[in-house]
Amino acid sequence: MTQLLYNESAYQKEFAAVVLSCIPGENGTFDVTLDKTAFFPEQGGQYADRGVLGGADVLDVQMKNGTVIHTVSAPLTPGKTVTGNIEWDTRYDRMQNHTGEHILSGFLHAEYGYENVGFHMNDDFLTLDTTGELTWEQLSAAEDYANRIVRENFPIVVSYPDAAELEMLDYRSKLELSEDVRIVTIPGVDVCACCAPHVAYTGEIGLVKIVDAIRYKGGMRLTVLCGERARRDYVTKHAVLSDIAVTLCTKPEEAAAGVARLQNQIYTLKGELAAVRRELLSYKIAALPETDGNLCIFEEGADNSTLRSIVNAGTEKCTGICAAFSGNDTDGYLFVIGAKNVPLRARAKEITTALGGRGGGSDAMISGSVRASAETIRAYIAGFC
Ligand SMILES: [Zn+2]
Repeated sequence: MTQLLYNESAYQKEFAAVVLSCIPGENGTFDVTLDKTAFFPEQGGQYADRGVLGGADVLDVQMKNGTVIHTVSAPLTPGKTVTGNIEWDTRYDRMQNHTGEHILSGFLHAEYGYENVGFHMNDDFLTLDTTGELTWEQLSAAEDYANRIVRENFPIVVSYPDAAELEMLDYRSKLELSEDVRIVTIPGVDVCACCAPHVAYTGEIGLVKIVDAIRYKGGMRLTVLCGERARRDYVTKHAVLSDIAVTLCTKPEEAAAGVARLQNQIYTLKGELAAVRRELLSYKIAALPETDGNLCIFEEGADNSTLRSIVNAGTEKCTGICAAFSGNDTDGYLFVIGAKNVPLRARAKEITTALGGRGGGSDAMISGSVRASAETIRAYIAGFC
């Protein structure tokens, strides 16, 4: 059994411990046990602490039958006393976020009777899964409440009640165990069984922000940022919003309306552009020359139905085939080919093979896509007979 210093104080960043064992692990690493440790092992949805132990990097920390295994980058000598240093910024960030989660989960439990049945925290955000659905108004109420509890700076108290006290205690994450249950209490706010390190006062959390909520397994999955993560997120979003506002020449609080206006304008302009394109195309079709032979037409941006319109008109004006293409040399071309006097169905394979593509259709019209250059296409169509 390793003595767990993080249970005695979550704020111990440095400690001295005796190396009990060191055995080679995977990929050149070493698994080290100590008489005591301040490194929190991965558990309860929270990653292991990182840091340095006796000059070696701590890559992973796992708990096995009450013993903490530190996976480190270099061997340590059994019997020797070594110094451990926790990567404090990461640990404190997790303490802020974990404690913020307690307040939110406590509120959702007390207010709506929902349990937190899934908790995960990575280096960017934490997620918690509730047993019931929540509206944005309810989520907003939970966030307001959590931030009020932060402002009121409640203490966070850790205790280990005996079996009789546990029996009487109403707490979240009720465990089957009757001894060594670690109870984390925010007086008047939440009581929960939890093994992780927390901040000492709710004021240290700084800020609680729910940034996303999706329906998940009959409940909700909330994505939450607390503390420095939430502040960094605010900095990023403030910069993005300011950029949008400057681009739109509007105030930040009017940027969303400005973007909606732009979208409407784009929608209207797209309609106008399509009408103009249709009109232009009708002139182009009318102006197609009477040709003794094949016609090859490139119409940028044309879809399959536009290419068909061109080909329908073109076959009336030539004695050979009329081929219409849209696209570019890099991405390839869509094509439609029509003819009055050439049975195209039987020639489709020959054409698509020559131009590196695929397609098919009827004797009167074939369509598909090819990957040749415009120059190659023009030369091929001109010589087709
Ligand atoms: Zn906790």
